[in-house]
Amino acid sequence: MCSLCARVSKIYMATPAIDMVEPAHILVVEDEEAIRDMLSVSLQRNGHQVIAVAGVAAAKKVLSETKIDIALVDWMLPGGNGLEFVRFLRASQRTRNMPVIMLTARTGEEDVTAGLDAGADDYVTKPFSPKELNSRINALLRRIRDRPATDSTLVAGPLQLDIHTHKAHCMVNRSALALELGHTEYKLLRFFMENPERVFSRGQLLDNVWGSDTFIEERTVDVHMLRLRKILKPAGIDSMLETVRGAGYRLSAKVPP
Ligand code: CA
Repeated sequence: MCSLCARVSKIYMATPAIDMVEPAHILVVEDEEAIRDMLSVSLQRNGHQVIAVAGVAAAKKVLSETKIDIALVDWMLPGGNGLEFVRFLRASQRTRNMPVIMLTARTGEEDVTAGLDAGADDYVTKPFSPKELNSRINALLRRIRDRPATDSTLVAGPLQLDIHTHKAHCMVNRSALALELGHTEYKLLRFFMENPERVFSRGQLLDNVWGSDTFIEERTVDVHMLRLRKILKPAGIDSMLETVRGAGYRLSAKVPP
């Protein structure tokens, strides 16, 4: 690379695009190399991480190894068409809610309907403007990020707890890190998440989490608090559980730096 090109590309990389949401991991499935490359450059320019593959088999491999935020899928692909791949994404637990944009030269009303019926969220016809595509991507990402948690999910800062499945996870760098909770730790965490920022004494925790008719020593609470902190530690959020000297414990939704 000549020194001017190096300088230009450096400036180019350092200049953020204006219409930018948080960077996303984008999977591009497109068999035409020229379009694939153009998409990669254009999306990277908008701050996104791009994995571009030429076919469905490679795309499935990427999905099994990497968390993808949004997929751009060409309709006509070798080894299985894009519509079938979109149906596969919708049928799979992990990718059911992943935003998908179909890219295709097909412009007929029936084609558009088929794409959307297969589960695509949006549809862009070739030739498309990279700028318009980027706006559509950002719109989908915003919609996903602004979606409120369902009724069954308790949220405290980066921590989420599903009271139907008893599964907890923490959002770390926009990826969900699963947290393995024991039965008592689940009940304890749920109580704290239902009552964030409030301080509870050991006695109050025993009454509310274990039940007032049980005869358990107060230090049992300390043991389970210790276990709960250990569970939160890999996500770097164990400090959300605060010990309030002389008073008890509380959960703060704010993660101290
Ligand atoms: Ca194609």
